[in-house]
Amino acid sequence: MTAHIIDGKAAAARLRAQVAADVATLPYRPGLTVVLVGDDPASQVYVRSKDRAATEAGITAHTIRLPATTTEPELLAVIAALNADSTVDGILVQLPLPAPLRAQLIIDAIDPAKDVDGLHPINAGRLANGLPGLVPCTPLGVMKLLAETATPIRGARAVVLGRSVLVGRPIAALLNNADATVTLAHSRTRDLAAECRRADILIAAVGRPEMVRGDWIAPGAVVIDVGINRIGPKQLVGDVATAEALQIAGAITPVPGGVGPMTIACLLENTVTAARLRRASL
Ligand code: NDP
Repeated sequence: MTAHIIDGKAAAARLRAQVAADVATLPYRPGLTVVLVGDDPASQVYVRSKDRAATEAGITAHTIRLPATTTEPELLAVIAALNADSTVDGILVQLPLPAPLRAQLIIDAIDPAKDVDGLHPINAGRLANGLPGLVPCTPLGVMKLLAETATPIRGARAVVLGRSVLVGRPIAALLNNADATVTLAHSRTRDLAAECRRADILIAAVGRPEMVRGDWIAPGAVVIDVGINRIGPKQLVGDVATAEALQIAGAITPVPGGVGPMTIACLLENTVTAARLRRASL
């Protein structure tokens, strides 16, 4: 048996088209501003893709580029101006920030109503408490891919490998809120393979190339591979050994073409959500 391959690219294209259709019905154009500090090459690529995708969906997108020498007070002043700008619905500070800038200090300064990355403690707390709020884009994309495959979540055993604030923790919260029984595993977990083998839904977000082997996967499990690991100059691999997993899983996301494309599509959706909620409350 070969696992069903979950086509994240196609799902993302559908979501982007849906967002564009939603934007077309609004009496205003939602605004997204991305703040990029420094010249990290990967960040430059991500920011350009976000800008292009937002513009294609009818969102007014701006990128503010600041030098790596920007100080915390200078960056906080930029955030304060964006918070006060009524045409800006979404603010995203591209991470990682160059040292010695403190990411958490900057994120804490973003208006939670404009926090389209869902990283402000208010939004993280709302998610942890099962309340509505802005949810981080990659975790939101993971849930949409599970929905795409009609994976039953209520009562399912879900194992999330990795507990970062950006990925693992919010995915675990979303699965918990959707009534899965969630295990959040990490670098101190004993017998990781045995934990993973118990999963009906296995989410890998560790950043270790092909760490999850075929014999870590229960027959028929749904596997979502969040990992993006660069091997050499050209090759990208996930956190799951895909060739092995294909022989045992029920469904699996490829890398690339799985979770990655959903992240940007969810950013667009979050921008529209933020615009609707904030403008309705003005
Ligand atoms: P982090 O490095 O912030 O977190 C990694 C997590 O994995 C930590 O919780 C860590 O445990 C755990 N971990 C690391 N090594 C092991 C190990 N050997 N065994 C068990 N657990 C381990 O990474 P991110 O969460 O930011 O990213 C994870 C992956 O997802 C990366 O490959 C990243 O590139 C990718 N990513 C993909 C996105 C997309 O759009 N598809 C978006 C964001 C990230 P501990 O807490 O104990 O240290």
